Amino acid sequence: MSVTGLCQICENAPARHGCRYCGRQVCRDHWNEAVGACTPCAESSGVGDGGGRSDGSQPGGDSDGYRVE
Ligand SMILES: [Zn+2]
Ligand SMILES: [Zn+2]
Repeated sequence: MSVTGLCQICENAPARHGCRYCGRQVCRDHWNEAVGACTPCAESSGVGDGGGRSDGSQPGGDSDGYRVE
């Protein structure tokens, strides 16, 4: 496995995800799985639970297919 580096937020844990919004590599603690972004981006995007524009990653919705608005 190739770890590119440390989390660019806490710099204390190996990065596991890359944020598609800001491009930061973040650890699991700073990754918002529901939104698919790092926690700062997830918060700033205003997407909480049951948010308007999730990318089809919301559980309990339609089983497949993306929701295009
Ligand atoms: Zn972190
Ligand atoms: Zn981000």
